[in-house]
Amino acid sequence: MSRIDDLPPLRDVITTHDLRARKALGQNFLLDLNLTSRIARIAGDLSNTDVIEVGPGPGGLTRGLLAEGARRVLAIEKDHRCMPALAQIAGAYPGRLTVIEGDALEIDPLAHLTPPIAICANLPYNVGTELLIRWLTPKEWPPFWSTLTLMFQKEVAERITAQPGSKAYGRLAILAQWRTDARIALSLPPEAFTPPPKVSSAVVHLTALPEPRFPADPKILERIVAKAFNQRRKMLRAALKGTAPDLEDRLLAAGIQPTERAEQVSIEQFCALARMFEQG
Ligand code: SAM
Repeated sequence: MSRIDDLPPLRDVITTHDLRARKALGQNFLLDLNLTSRIARIAGDLSNTDVIEVGPGPGGLTRGLLAEGARRVLAIEKDHRCMPALAQIAGAYPGRLTVIEGDALEIDPLAHLTPPIAICANLPYNVGTELLIRWLTPKEWPPFWSTLTLMFQKEVAERITAQPGSKAYGRLAILAQWRTDARIALSLPPEAFTPPPKVSSAVVHLTALPEPRFPADPKILERIVAKAFNQRRKMLRAALKGTAPDLEDRLLAAGIQPTERAEQVSIEQFCALARMFEQG
């Protein structure tokens, strides 16, 4: 293994600190530092950027981010056992790594950071999806972060980046692509992780757009999209029944045939439809 820093190899770190992976914490570690550097590079030039890393574990990705030049890394980790390994990394990069022990779902890291801010994480998938939805639905746009570089189960990555007309297209694709550029940057087989998970993974890179791609009230858009995809096999005139007495006129005015199904409707059309509901 090539050395990206003067720290011990991750396998030794895991043995020294007895960091056997715990299933309950969704621990599937990345031990190849070439790979973690590669993931850090997907996040882009970080030399002027503070990075929030969620779930650093033994610190493979943390080391990648620091070696690739991140200005600062703020890492939030729930597992107390990882603290000595992370402290060792902080010692090797003086003043550049801060570790917070706690639950990323409960911690607001913003007080510690200076924009621009990037978020990078290899998280358990359930926590990752919940955080992604939070990061995509802030009170104001643009959000506090400029990019997200996140590892997901491949199937979730495909749902985030899906295009209309595909099975994977739905709420998550619309939520993500309405206000970001989202792409799958890297696919990884289960063997890239220790222990290997059951399914393949992918790194998704999302860049926040300065403003939404098409105007719409976020709450109205979310409500319509949720209802439309709740019964994704039904025609929209049925799936959206009860939302307005003149529903079919509103659909047509938004450029949507009432007989179309949600998965055929573009983000632009959903936004046009949301605007039809803005006056009540
Ligand atoms: N980033 C490391 C890597 O790539 O090798 C570890 C990845 S492992 C998939 C997920 C990490 O997230 C674990 O270290 C786990 O303890 C941590 N974690 C799980 N739930 C968390 C939460 N709610 N808040 C913060 N960290 C969490």
